[in-house]
Amino acid sequence: MIAVNKCPVCSCADLQSFLTCEDHTVSHETFQIKICVNCQLGITSPRPSDDDLNRYYLSDEYISHSGNSSGLIGALYKSARKVTLGWKQKLVESHASKSNILDYGCGTGEFLKHMQSNGWGIAGVEPSKLAREKAESLTKIKISETPYHDQKKFAAITLWHVLEHVPDLNHTLKQFGQLLDKSGTVFIAVPNYKSPDGEHYKKYWAGFDVPRHLWHFSSTSMSHLLEANGFNVVAIKPMMLDAFYISLLSEKYKGSGPLKQYVAAVINGFRSNWRAKKNTNFSSLIYIARLK
Ligand SMILES: [Zn+2]
Repeated sequence: MIAVNKCPVCSCADLQSFLTCEDHTVSHETFQIKICVNCQLGITSPRPSDDDLNRYYLSDEYISHSGNSSGLIGALYKSARKVTLGWKQKLVESHASKSNILDYGCGTGEFLKHMQSNGWGIAGVEPSKLAREKAESLTKIKISETPYHDQKKFAAITLWHVLEHVPDLNHTLKQFGQLLDKSGTVFIAVPNYKSPDGEHYKKYWAGFDVPRHLWHFSSTSMSHLLEANGFNVVAIKPMMLDAFYISLLSEKYKGSGPLKQYVAAVINGFRSNWRAKKNTNFSSLIYIARLK
């Protein structure tokens, strides 16, 4: 296990106990989350060592990697993914000129395939062997296991719910600085634990997803992190469907019966998006940033 004693965003050593959460998808072990008193970054600590983390991804339930979850939640996830592919493309194209895109943590490759079909040059990084093989068969390109060392420059780098899994935040963002072309843009989607659904479900909130989520971001900590690594935040956009999906999973983790899960997820999803509108504090946020 690795104990994190210092905030990787602002170097503050004052980390306060916040919540004890269960790993609901794989191990059912419990993990502590601490909060940096200075920048509000949430930190899973102690956490499994980098080598040991792999075994916490070994589950059919871990659908963003296996792509074959069954049941109604899996079906909803897949429908939502279809709708969001077109929406993500529009978002990227409204901030970056069409050329090369790197999807960092590309999972089973659906987003890359979609961008390839729409005229983008594509590249992907994915550490999971199973997901990487599926992405390769879908896109017919070689997906890298580890971070990219090619000299290729990208107009866009996307991380769809990936940065919260990455052990070395600063090193990873600095790499993006080398990989982007001069006017290149990063798109970083992460859960927002300060959202109304995060504050409602507390330790049951599915956006914590310990120990796979090593970090738990708010807009304050993410803005600090990007600024410190040479980026300017140009926009922050909501992912409004996440409030429903995260509420549904959170109800399941709370032990609600099947009917209550769906009713409560719809109510809490709407309520979260409604409350978030006042202060753009949505369940998940996409940070769009360019090099300074
Ligand atoms: Zn901090």
